[in-house]
Amino acid sequence: MTQGNRKARRAWAAARKRHIRPGHVYIAEIQHDPDCMIYSTERTCTCNPTRILKDDRGRELARVENAGFYDPLEMAEVMP
Ligand SMILES: [Zn+2]
Repeated sequence: MTQGNRKARRAWAAARKRHIRPGHVYIAEIQHDPDCMIYSTERTCTCNPTRILKDDRGRELARVENAGFYDPLEMAEVMP
């Protein structure tokens, strides 16, 4: 069971807030473990992925590790 680090989760939230703006293109790269259940029919993250936010040129804006399970809603909330 991986809850991740509260500080890391806050860092990820802050990075999204800072970099993601309506009308701007960004890429969220979530690096799951190969054995994560996100790749199963359940589509539920059971690992502790590294989250990377990139701009439309592929430049890294933020990288957060150890923020716990990935929840797709964590990106949906910032969509314009
Ligand atoms: Zn995962």
